[in-house]
Amino acid sequence: MADSVNTLPFFYGSITREEAEDYLRQAGMGDGGYLLRQSRNYLGGFALSVSYSGRCSHYTIERESSGTYAIAGGKSHRSPVDVIDYHSQELDGLVCLLKRPCNRPRNMQPKVGQFDDLKEKLIREYVAQTWNLKGAALEQAIISQKPQLEKLIATTAHERMPWFHGTITREDSEPRLQNGSRTNGKFLIRERDSNGSYALCLLHEGQVMHYRIDRDRTQKLSIPDGKKFDTLCQLVEHYSYKPDGLLRVLTEPCPRPDGDIGQLGWSLLLQDPTRFTSTLHTAAGGFFSKMKIPGRKKSWGSRPNKDNVYETKVLGNQAVNKEAMPMDTEVYESPYADPDELRSSTVDRNHLFLEDGELGSGNFGTVMKGIYKMRKTEKPVAVKILKNDDNNPAVRDEMLREANVMQQLDNPYIVRMIGICEAENLMLVMELAELGPLNKFLQKNRQTSIKNITELVHQVSMGMKYLEEHNFVHRDLAARNVLLVTQHYAKISDFGLSKAVAEDQNYYKAKGHGKWPVKWYAPECINYLKFSSKSDVWSFGVLMWEAYSYGQKPYKGMKGNDVMQMIESGKRMDAPGNCPPEMFDLMRTCWTYKADERPGFAVVEPRLREYYYDIAQ
Ligand code: AMP
Repeated sequence: MADSVNTLPFFYGSITREEAEDYLRQAGMGDGGYLLRQSRNYLGGFALSVSYSGRCSHYTIERESSGTYAIAGGKSHRSPVDVIDYHSQELDGLVCLLKRPCNRPRNMQPKVGQFDDLKEKLIREYVAQTWNLKGAALEQAIISQKPQLEKLIATTAHERMPWFHGTITREDSEPRLQNGSRTNGKFLIRERDSNGSYALCLLHEGQVMHYRIDRDRTQKLSIPDGKKFDTLCQLVEHYSYKPDGLLRVLTEPCPRPDGDIGQLGWSLLLQDPTRFTSTLHTAAGGFFSKMKIPGRKKSWGSRPNKDNVYETKVLGNQAVNKEAMPMDTEVYESPYADPDELRSSTVDRNHLFLEDGELGSGNFGTVMKGIYKMRKTEKPVAVKILKNDDNNPAVRDEMLREANVMQQLDNPYIVRMIGICEAENLMLVMELAELGPLNKFLQKNRQTSIKNITELVHQVSMGMKYLEEHNFVHRDLAARNVLLVTQHYAKISDFGLSKAVAEDQNYYKAKGHGKWPVKWYAPECINYLKFSSKSDVWSFGVLMWEAYSYGQKPYKGMKGNDVMQMIESGKRMDAPGNCPPEMFDLMRTCWTYKADERPGFAVVEPRLREYYYDIAQ
């Protein structure tokens, strides 16, 4: 949402209320003149400034937990623009109808908030340090989990600020402010207790003033009777430009003593991550102190609890439920990302331990759970075992072909092959995705939220974008072939039908019709035996339909031939009940008849991403 709002000519970004009034004044203060700006106290919120009768009124547009927007106590809308459209027709509590947008002066871009600028850097650093990721794995982690990461960073960024001194007493804080420069407005923030209350300590005419900062029931922070904020950074930003009840504005951050991160400054920390981590280990509370030392493997646990909430941490004294992220699992990074684990396409039977119980089965045989002992670590694995009594060499060839494709792929959203094991049976050893196929999971878990489904479907689109970029066609993309590692982590599997395609030709021509999943196939697959990433996009549309209908069968009760006729006649499946219109629209786009006019995953993935960020912020 924030991205699309940026393009609105009457959106000014993170300007203050006073600046908004100046712009409205410059525009003549006509009745119904208005502009939109970013909220400087509510995360993800906006503010609407309106001129009427020579005066300005300001309304906060809060982002509600359901992802909708509303002026406090008013009707909910899908976007801030919808709020504006509504109030151009309906007064509903506003001073006047919104009539004239007050557009930004030419060449002025929406103003970026102090914290926004820092946020990207902090997220990048957090992901790199916490999960020891770099390169493509780091980029993929950020793209897939951006909303969760933003929230995490926003509520804890103060721990990285020079003015944040952690849990020190009132007595300890005073000499810190009195030492060195004694500028009026010099300030620091300290933690008072573990209930989420802080104190703002401010130097005024040589004396230190202490203001309590309390957290209310809705977790908002405020100085008694003062404006409410979601984060300490917002609070500091606000009182840095306006006293608003304090004796004076905040001017100079009082740095932390003894070479603490406050004094090190941001750029130095980026240059020297070892120092960064070790100093963070001394910081009180917060998640930064739980980061692992670079080079060490995940030091703060790797399994979510049964509800897939990774853990509840007290972050800067604020309880934050951190959802399980893909990077928390053992299968986010390639098992061979560690240079000490030698990559080999064969697995030594002596290092493979099969467990009782099947994970699933197919034409070739069964899939069992196992443990593979590598040089330094043990990996839980899934082992596809070819039936021994199978005299059919074609099945063996098929399995080897599947292994050959899988071996060339390395992406967090694709099940990786660990190796082939030739022993009592031919075995294909793969990463384990314990929660099994997406369609079955959703059939059993009807309470799964739309946000959660969108998160998973977006991950599939990221894996498919990777396949498209590497010139592979999957040819069997369906919800049954998306396996879940956790409720928040999906991987594409089953490469039995997959093919590498020539870069210049970009499609695979089948030799004849086979045992095909016709309901997932694009018209050109059936009519011309032509398979490309574009035909995978068609299948992806069907997969989306399955996901938003909680694992129902597509074209229920219809035969393959009837489905083909239906498609040829221009008809498509209806939207699943409660399916977001944006997502049904995308499915319909995936079902564009002509492959040339159908978008590729390079287009589909960002569309899903945008919608996911929108509802997950
Ligand atoms: P497939 O023939 O590859 O679709 O595998 C048959 C079934 O085995 C799947 O539907 C899953 O239930 C299970 N299975 C396959 N691969 C894995 C894996 N990597 N992790 C967990 N279960 C798997």
